[in-house]
Amino acid sequence: MIYIDPDLCKGCLLCVNTCNAHVFTVAKKANKKGVFLPIPTNENACLNCGECELLCPDQAILIDIEKHWWMKKDNNYAFNPNFSKIKG
Ligand code: SF4
Ligand code: SF4
Repeated sequence: MIYIDPDLCKGCLLCVNTCNAHVFTVAKKANKKGVFLPIPTNENACLNCGECELLCPDQAILIDIEKHWWMKKDNNYAFNPNFSKIKG
């Protein structure tokens, strides 16, 4: 699940532009604050990399934290399936 808090988002679209999986589109209409919100229309393509969440200057994005590889199993980095490859 990708949740974007409409009260926190200012529509900078950093999340849209950083997402390599092209998960977001931009709302066609502005909300009551005049913000064109990003919408996770292609959520199935999400890689759970967490980059959008980390980059958002207003902490307006929440992705499914259970899927963050760095948060899994007592913060055990070994959960990352690529960790052994990274370590060689
Ligand atoms: S990076 Fe954050 S503030 Fe900017 S558009 Fe995305 S959710 Fe909104
Ligand atoms: S977690 Fe990664 S892949 Fe998923 S929407 Fe954010 S930037 Fe895109």
